[in-house]
Amino acid sequence: MPKTISSPPFFLYFPQKIPGWEKFVIAWIIQGDLTIVVDVGPRASIDSLIAQLEQKGIQQVDFVWLTHIHIDHAGGLGPFLEKFSTAKVIAPAKGVPHLIDPTRLWEGSLATLGEKATAYGPIDPVPRESLFSPEEIGLEGLTILETPGHAPFHLSFCYGNCLFCGESAGVFVPLGEKIYLRPPTPPRFFFEQTLSSVDKMLALPDQTIYFGHAGSHPNSQKMLRLYREQLFRWKGIISEVLQSVSEEVLVKQAMEVLLEKDPMLACFPQMDILAQQRERYFMANSINGFVGYLKSLS
Ligand SMILES: [Zn+2]
Repeated sequence: MPKTISSPPFFLYFPQKIPGWEKFVIAWIIQGDLTIVVDVGPRASIDSLIAQLEQKGIQQVDFVWLTHIHIDHAGGLGPFLEKFSTAKVIAPAKGVPHLIDPTRLWEGSLATLGEKATAYGPIDPVPRESLFSPEEIGLEGLTILETPGHAPFHLSFCYGNCLFCGESAGVFVPLGEKIYLRPPTPPRFFFEQTLSSVDKMLALPDQTIYFGHAGSHPNSQKMLRLYREQLFRWKGIISEVLQSVSEEVLVKQAMEVLLEKDPMLACFPQMDILAQQRERYFMANSINGFVGYLKSLS
């Protein structure tokens, strides 16, 4: 018997100690026959996650599904499992060694994120016995897709007409009825791999899609198509800018052109100023990802 989901999945925000990150890091919670947490966030906000789960009367978590092992999605898994010790974790297979011994994960986070990694907090080792492969779990009704692109190891979870895509379908920020969608494509970025992950998810039936940084949309097909178009749009715009300006102003210039021409970024001015600063920070990373990819072609 497939397990049932009793109510629509919901997300919990964990405000971070980084201005502009108040509504950015989240976990999705699925309740029904099983209680499932999709991504747990970093160490700095694990107490907030645990307190919010307790407030909702959740005493036991059956599964943690990790979309990817980046610090803002998985960094707090160690202390989370101290509280919910029977939770079984499914994570990308190639990420598992880095969860068990997070030394390199932490060094990589520091190198990429600097003081933001410090604000997210250290990464503790995850007990090996908490980690399971999808085959060992054998959960009926669960389809797991490998969807690399944003991260080299990335999973999307399809369960009960819900698609938890992590960051493999863009970062979606709902602004009322309007859609803000941004590629999370930091270096090293592989365009074709990202695209083929999107196509894998497009091959699934239309369903509700749940994004790794808040926001859901009832039509996965629509959102995946918008993201697919956006990837090609960014590729076109950034390669034009790359040919026309010097290295020093490249990222800045590309960002201005994208903000002007990409309809998926049209509601950027409606974000508060700190959220805009956060998005500019990530946009610069994402543009650098495209630039590296485009240079690798020549
Ligand atoms: Zn993230």
